[in-house]
Amino acid sequence: MSFQSLGLSEPLLKAISKKGYETPSPIQEKAIPPVLQGRDVLASAQTGTGKTAGFTLPLLHYLSENPKEKFRPIRALILTPTRELAAQVYESVKDYSTFLNIKSAVIFGGVNQKPQVATLRRGVDVLVATPGRLLDLQNQNLLSIKRVEVFVLDEADRMLDMGFLRDIERVMKLMPDKRQNLMFSATFSKDIRKLANSILNNPVQVEATPENSTVDAISQKVYRVAKNKKTGLIIKLISEGNWKQVLVFTRTKHGANRLTKKMVSAGISAAAIHGNKSQGARTKALAGFKNGSVRVMVATDIAARGLDIPLLPHVVNFELPNISEDYVHRIGRTGRAGANGQALSLVSADETSYLKSIEKLIDERIEVEIVEGFEPDPNASTEPIKPGQNRQQGRGNRNSNPRQSSRNKNHASKRKSNNSRRRNDRRN
Ligand code: AMP
Repeated sequence: MSFQSLGLSEPLLKAISKKGYETPSPIQEKAIPPVLQGRDVLASAQTGTGKTAGFTLPLLHYLSENPKEKFRPIRALILTPTRELAAQVYESVKDYSTFLNIKSAVIFGGVNQKPQVATLRRGVDVLVATPGRLLDLQNQNLLSIKRVEVFVLDEADRMLDMGFLRDIERVMKLMPDKRQNLMFSATFSKDIRKLANSILNNPVQVEATPENSTVDAISQKVYRVAKNKKTGLIIKLISEGNWKQVLVFTRTKHGANRLTKKMVSAGISAAAIHGNKSQGARTKALAGFKNGSVRVMVATDIAARGLDIPLLPHVVNFELPNISEDYVHRIGRTGRAGANGQALSLVSADETSYLKSIEKLIDERIEVEIVEGFEPDPNASTEPIKPGQNRQQGRGNRNSNPRQSSRNKNHASKRKSNNSRRRNDRRN
């Protein structure tokens, strides 16, 4: 299939060929036609599938083929969970509208609102926004979304994980009832389906699994290691392997900072990216990582979500995530566009139960290696994580408090059924 046969206008085809895309990705093939028909769409797709163009191209086609008055009310609103994703989506909107008379803007928190307000005043057709700043400016009467015709909710699952449900509901109330809605999510939990029901009107459902999330394309390995030897091991792996671009995941922001400092002391250029970093620091770290001046980027799950870093050769889980789906998201950052990727996990005794859950989710055993000098501690407890740290997420938690322990049991069984549901969603 070609982009021409999807019925996109000439200026869009020109922009697509300028980007160097030859054929539409599966999600683009599936999503573009119903969006062009004006249908609501529920799409199962994560970063790396080309989903951004999947909604942006037909949206721009519609807006440019149906021009409105010179004063530009916001006609399309794209809501994203993170600032980084908002910035990336905005770059795509700008690129694809190069040859169109369409104005776009991005707004997110953590930076001065003045330049954003000035841009909005000049008139904007397509607004990309994170929920907080959008509502903030709306409360100050600095923008209106009363004329929105197309609403896109990107990475809806992460929106919910980040606690944006109330904000999304507030945003919905500020838009006209009659509009087209497009919702994208990598996973489909009960809550996501509920949200979809409340937003979408008789949606067309489309699905695309990214090439890289078929876990086979990625070589995975687990290093069993003592907790206090993880830093030494990762430094050894990066130095001896001469890895140039490594994305490392830690469970906490403090962990990310600590590891970054140790890497830098060991002579490896590294930067941390997480929610406590200023927008400027995050943008700088990402730019450095992309241009090669920063070899290692240490990130938390939320900060890394949606980052578009093509052809990432190495992903390291310095700590396993306590939510198994996050493992799939993390390793999905490697081996993009058909390149081989390596996903390594440093696993200490207290992460054993997480590893088991992950293997169950991906339906395979991950190869294990032990490096001499970095052996696991045979006396370490297999109790999950340190006390006080995401305690309720731990499984197999032999808690002496009976109320606490029954709560944990509920969590575990609920999560188990969610896991199997999500797995089915992904496969169906
Ligand atoms: P996304 O899933 O939207 O974050 O896109 C992932 C990456 O794929 C981005 O770097 C896009 O520029 C790129 N991309 C999107 N569509 C295509 C296409 N049809 N052909 C080649 N690359 C694409």
